[in-house]
Amino acid sequence: MQKTAGIHHITAMVNDPQRTIDFYAGVLGLRLVKKTINFDRPEVYHLYFGNESGEPGTAITFFPWAKQLKGRIGTGQVGVIRFIIPADSMEFWKNRLKKFNVKFISAVRFGEKHVAFQDPDGLEIELVERREGTVNHWAFGGIQEENAIQGFDGALLISPQPHKTADVLENVLGLECIGQEEGFLRFKSEASLGNTIDIKLTPSVRGLMGAGTIHHIAWRARDEEELHKWRALLVEKEYYPTEIRDRQYFKALYFHEEGGILFEIATDPPGFSMDEPMETLGQKLMLPSWLESKREELEKTLPPIEVRVLEGDQK
Ligand code: ZN
Repeated sequence: MQKTAGIHHITAMVNDPQRTIDFYAGVLGLRLVKKTINFDRPEVYHLYFGNESGEPGTAITFFPWAKQLKGRIGTGQVGVIRFIIPADSMEFWKNRLKKFNVKFISAVRFGEKHVAFQDPDGLEIELVERREGTVNHWAFGGIQEENAIQGFDGALLISPQPHKTADVLENVLGLECIGQEEGFLRFKSEASLGNTIDIKLTPSVRGLMGAGTIHHIAWRARDEEELHKWRALLVEKEYYPTEIRDRQYFKALYFHEEGGILFEIATDPPGFSMDEPMETLGQKLMLPSWLESKREELEKTLPPIEVRVLEGDQK
């Protein structure tokens, strides 16, 4: 059976691009690896953050749009994004969150301690320590390599039909169910990052799309050939996937699982260094070829943004 390695990326909706950069780059220390626009709506940025290369399993992406109404986290959505921090760095992160006035709680799930907090738009974030995972070589502001977020640990899915969603994870995507505890089911995939998926079993309010909610979660396909096989499987199982779309940095298809969560399957290649050098990723506004002729106009419309070390966070 074909199996996904794990999470490719997660995409969320927010209101303000600079506030999002200050939080994910400034406070959490992720690298802005791509500054582009929403291909379907060029007046809106599409910002990608990740480890030093934005490799699959580390990429969180945002559509920041000021006019977007606030959403509500609930069923039919990914409810929580969880990142891996290196072993023994929890104290560092608690102190860092305090320093930037981010209120957090400490909690335990499946026997593991994590801290939970919200981003400025209300997205639910957790940090969990693990010994596995790969080192993120991107150091920023007051964050050194030994404390840097490595990438996704995983995500929590909120479904109105949790067992149907579980069935999709197991029998379509090929994840393995490894346990049930206190109202959560846990699944694992094989990659070293983005490999832990929980499904909430207790009832939740109905989710509403909007700012402060997650738009979709993307799963990894090794290459385009594998993506075609995924598409054939989804057609056969009557998930009505979209055609394969060119997203510049990967090829992708989309479908709704039975709980209503929007799933994407995206190829690992070509990745974010396909149109700009690794050293300067994320610095220039990157446009697909069909929008290059509108660059000047777009650069005037889009609000100016920058990655900056926050006040009091110099090395
Ligand atoms: Zn996506």
